[in-house]
Amino acid sequence: MIHLHERELKRDPFARTTVVRRPDTAGQGARECACCGAIRRSAGGRPLLAWNYGTRHDGGRTEWSRSPFCGRDCSRTFHGN
Ligand SMILES: [Zn+2]
Repeated sequence: MIHLHERELKRDPFARTTVVRRPDTAGQGARECACCGAIRRSAGGRPLLAWNYGTRHDGGRTEWSRSPFCGRDCSRTFHGN
């Protein structure tokens, strides 16, 4: 089951998990990236919600990181994966 705003990014067939992301709605509006401190912005400079990344197991359970990130690279750097 995938929610409307969630997106599956990359499946690891060996771990039987999929990297997923959703808009960070835990804060009040746009939050700074927990890794690099940047705020995501549109091409026109408007602040955008950061991303939350998660690990979805093939069985259906998803573990979400509550930290906001500007992108997958920062999430990987922060979590060391
Ligand atoms: Zn970042």
